[in-house]
Amino acid sequence: MRIVFLSTEVAPYAKTGGLADVAAALPVALGMLGHHVNIFLPKYGFISEKTHGLRKLSTDVVMRVPVGYATEGVGVWTTDTTDTNVRVYFIEHFWFFNRAGLYVDPRTTQDYSDNPARFAYLCRAVLETIRALKLDPDVIHCNDYQTALTPAYLNMAYTADPALSSTATLYTIHNMQYQGRFPRDIMGVINIGYEHFYPGSAFEYWEQVNFMKAGLTFADVLNTVSPRYAQEIQHSSEYGHGLEGVLRSRSDDLYGIINGIDYGVWNPRSDPLIPHPFDADDLTGKAHNKATLLYLFGLSAPPNTPVIGIVSRLASQKGLDLLGPVLSTLLESDLRMVVLGTGEPRYHDLFRWAAETYPDKIGVKLGFDDRLAHLIEAGADLFLMPSRFEPCGLNQLYSLRYGTLPIVRETGGLADTVLPYDPVQETGTGFSFSDYTSEALLGVVRQALDVYRHRPEVWQEMIRQAMREDFSWTASAKRYVELYEKAIAKKERISAATDAKKSRTSRR
Ligand code: ADP
Repeated sequence: MRIVFLSTEVAPYAKTGGLADVAAALPVALGMLGHHVNIFLPKYGFISEKTHGLRKLSTDVVMRVPVGYATEGVGVWTTDTTDTNVRVYFIEHFWFFNRAGLYVDPRTTQDYSDNPARFAYLCRAVLETIRALKLDPDVIHCNDYQTALTPAYLNMAYTADPALSSTATLYTIHNMQYQGRFPRDIMGVINIGYEHFYPGSAFEYWEQVNFMKAGLTFADVLNTVSPRYAQEIQHSSEYGHGLEGVLRSRSDDLYGIINGIDYGVWNPRSDPLIPHPFDADDLTGKAHNKATLLYLFGLSAPPNTPVIGIVSRLASQKGLDLLGPVLSTLLESDLRMVVLGTGEPRYHDLFRWAAETYPDKIGVKLGFDDRLAHLIEAGADLFLMPSRFEPCGLNQLYSLRYGTLPIVRETGGLADTVLPYDPVQETGTGFSFSDYTSEALLGVVRQALDVYRHRPEVWQEMIRQAMREDFSWTASAKRYVELYEKAIAKKERISAATDAKKSRTSRR
């Protein structure tokens, strides 16, 4: 199968969250299954041509993309890769992408005001590049709102194009919260006529243009990144963020596939970012990592003091509101906390306050630090992830592999991947709570600490059970292939029906 994989973040080139990890690992897993994958992302200003060995491609045709009244050129770069089945392409546009941020201007901390133009341009530039390079994909796999106009353009502007008219699309929702909602005037900028903007149309949502709605409407098949989230988003506005009706109308085409993790990168036995390797058979290294972790955060603790780690975008999605009211209570008990994150100022304030008030109990680093994220996974005893909603979540999967038992809220991918502690059987791979309340959170943390302190042999067994869980990409990549096949079959049915209709009309 020939697959184009379109994402605005791909590790190691550009990353703000889990999407980048998925966009790096899934194509490789698909390549190993024998499929050909061309990945596309913008050529941001911070992607070093030298470090990544990028080179500019010359194409026979000059590519042009309409953006509002202007017509913009397209530059394409690629890497020299040793993997024959996976290639990465970078779409170059100096004004749109040669910037320090992906979505947010670091100077103002606000979204770039021209994001709709930037991402509409990206979608069309990718389609033009596909034509110019004759990639001839069977399916285009779009990810999140920034790429959601691709299925719309395919269905509206490329139906007569032999290179693209039979290309199927899969649209993956990594997060319903970010939909790409913009004022009505954007219809002119994205070059989709105003006649397509009316109440209930594919582009309109409460008098705004909604990119995700267009993706949900036009893509042949849809999926989310966990089965539980696929259900949640259809059945409540809290999870569906207003698009639950649209999602329900596509229920037959909506699937859930849990993300895998890249055990080449996240493997405690071979991870170069942690000082002391370890595995399920010998956890000595884990204890040494814990000591290093405490040292780096300026904390000290007697042996057997539980350490709770947090690595997170500091956003309301992550359930940190629950932590505020009970943080003092937690920090007054016999434990240590280490926090790594960056995001909304109110959470920075919360953790700064905690670090100043309880300097010997909690260590806080406000920033993005990949190495430290690995060390927290390796050195902590527990990993706290009380998300309000969680499409899949990767950190709990890393935690499982590093024997750091996750404490999670039972939602989305967290519910699908963490087996909660069963006090009767004394089994499980983590701890979970359901009600979105601080009391419920406090209750489950106390339960976890109780097992840690009083049932050491159960604790060790839970660690081993957690480390043995397998969330490698191979199984999930096979499920994506099934979805691509479904999308292709659906596209063929639609094309056949359209052809039949055309020939009936011409016979009349
Ligand atoms: P989301 O995509 O919603 O942010 P995930 O759990 O799916 O959440 O993925 C988060 C990814 O980003 C993980 O790879 C995690 O380690 C990483 N990450 C998040 N915040 C930081 C940070 N401050 N420093 C380093 N890595 C981080």
